[in-house]
Amino acid sequence: MSNTPFDESGRFVIEDYSSLRPFSSFLPGIAGLMGIPLWVFYVNRGQAIASFGLESKDKPVMEFQPANKAYQTTPWDSAAIYFFLIAVTLSYMYFEVFAVVRHPEAARLSFLGKYLAGALAVPGLPEANAAAHFRISWWLHILFVYGFIAYVPYSKYFHMFTGPLNLFFRGRGSSRRLPPVDIEKSEVFGIEKTADFTWKDNLDAFACMECGRCQDACPASTSGKPLSPKMILVNQEKRLLAERRKLLERRRDDLSPLFPETYTDGEIWTCTTCGACQHVCPVEIEHIRKIVGVRRSEVLMQGRFPQELNAFFRNLETNSNPWGLGFSKRADWAAGLDVPVLSEKKSADVLLWVGCAGSYDEQGIQVAKAMVTLLRKAGVDFGILGTEEKCCGDSARRLGQEYLYQTLAEENLGLFLNYGVKKIITFCPHGYNTFQNEYSQLLPLLAAFSGEDKERLARIEIISHVSWVNGLLGQGRLKLKPGTGGRAAYHDPCYLGRHNGIIKEPRDILSRLNAAAPANEIVWCAGPGRTLQVRLACGAMTLAWPQLTWSVADTIVSAELVTFVRVNEPSPQRGAVCVNANVAFIAGVPLTSTVQSKLERP
Ligand code: SF4
Ligand code: SF4
Repeated sequence: MSNTPFDESGRFVIEDYSSLRPFSSFLPGIAGLMGIPLWVFYVNRGQAIASFGLESKDKPVMEFQPANKAYQTTPWDSAAIYFFLIAVTLSYMYFEVFAVVRHPEAARLSFLGKYLAGALAVPGLPEANAAAHFRISWWLHILFVYGFIAYVPYSKYFHMFTGPLNLFFRGRGSSRRLPPVDIEKSEVFGIEKTADFTWKDNLDAFACMECGRCQDACPASTSGKPLSPKMILVNQEKRLLAERRKLLERRRDDLSPLFPETYTDGEIWTCTTCGACQHVCPVEIEHIRKIVGVRRSEVLMQGRFPQELNAFFRNLETNSNPWGLGFSKRADWAAGLDVPVLSEKKSADVLLWVGCAGSYDEQGIQVAKAMVTLLRKAGVDFGILGTEEKCCGDSARRLGQEYLYQTLAEENLGLFLNYGVKKIITFCPHGYNTFQNEYSQLLPLLAAFSGEDKERLARIEIISHVSWVNGLLGQGRLKLKPGTGGRAAYHDPCYLGRHNGIIKEPRDILSRLNAAAPANEIVWCAGPGRTLQVRLACGAMTLAWPQLTWSVADTIVSAELVTFVRVNEPSPQRGAVCVNANVAFIAGVPLTSTVQSKLERP
């Protein structure tokens, strides 16, 4: 028997086998066996029902089934691909049955083929029939294989190629760092049309496998808001495909705006930028930069944004805080405490960044005072900026008002330079993230500072209060009496835990107090920062509550003012389970001998 697929006259024949065949013939059997669970899973999870447009009101058959809503964007696509996978497997099994009969010498390991041939009584068939089946099954299999290969680029399964590429080009740390904007040089701000997406945004769209993990992790989506991070990607891809000709011909003026045709008001303005979507995405798609990109275009180019933001932006402009409270009152909280102010003291080892909530919010002020007590106990030479301090600009930036953010940031950077700041401690996770990840990104764009000044500013060390307190405890500069134990539910702020990986430090603090803290992140965002208490607040606290009460905690510990404030607010979700729990801000923890804070309960 020849080992080439051609006969003497040069015709392609399929009777000839590779010499490897006797050793590889078990592979189709393995593939066939693997196809059975695939088929069972497909049918079981209701995909088949959803694929043909029929809704099932039945409960999932198995507990591990994900929510069905995540699977219903392109049901025909799913149906087609499952059809091909099953057809390729079955057609090969069809071929294999006749291959073992026709070439028994090469069927040494073909356990499934031999079993099926016996079960179907194929060896008893007339030879001509067996030969016909042999040829038909082969060509049928080839048809399905090439049909499958040809279909993939036109389906969502294109992600088989783009997904690995997307992982390779993933934007490390992109959830905590928005793309910079050169206000002076840019002509277009943000994403108005498909032409404004970067190549990486477009790769993201084609890498999405539509698994729905991001949607199920999204607090806005899960709390019933009209935002689905998955649909942001799916709709982007559809729009890119629909406008591909104009895009390739670079006819930007002929493209229609994405808003509100592709993205709606509800989608764009309910994102809290918590990053849960990016955190769970298996191909590391970057959702936030697209949502904020559209916001930037809406705010800076169109002047169109939710009405509530009018006052918000105006307050930041006039009083450098979101509530419009007098900027001259920013240091009132420190009255009588003899807190050093840098305008008088001129320099200090550490700048305590108080932030808007720490300066004006009643509970935030308690935390600011706790930080002052800790700094003094630890013997740290520190100062505050007092009335000179401005909002860090994080909220303005995430709401698309890049110009306002850059104005505030430039003023703060000028103050840091003026007072020779080398180290900043902040108890606001948003402030921490902005100073740590975004101010340095802005420096190259600021013409007001010299190269030397920029270098000095880039060297400023930014420390989160959680790491700082934990460090002091570790060095023995702060001492604690042994705790009384108990269970603590710690809520990870998105901008410390998820975006910046500060997970271990707060748990170390709690463990020093003999308090059992959950090992993993508590994932639900508690809503956007205190500064965004407009209708954008997604009400996600309703999701965080069950998680906080899940451990039947004695104390709920927070490291973010918004969670601290919200946990203290009366809430129906708070329920009976946690009615006796205390609420503590983590900076207040070392001031007591237990995890229970001295801060007032409601
Ligand atoms: S998690 Fe990632 S891959 Fe899955 S639907 Fe969301 S964006 Fe697409
Ligand atoms: S950042 Fe958070 S709120 Fe925004 S889409 Fe992602 S998961 Fe949803």
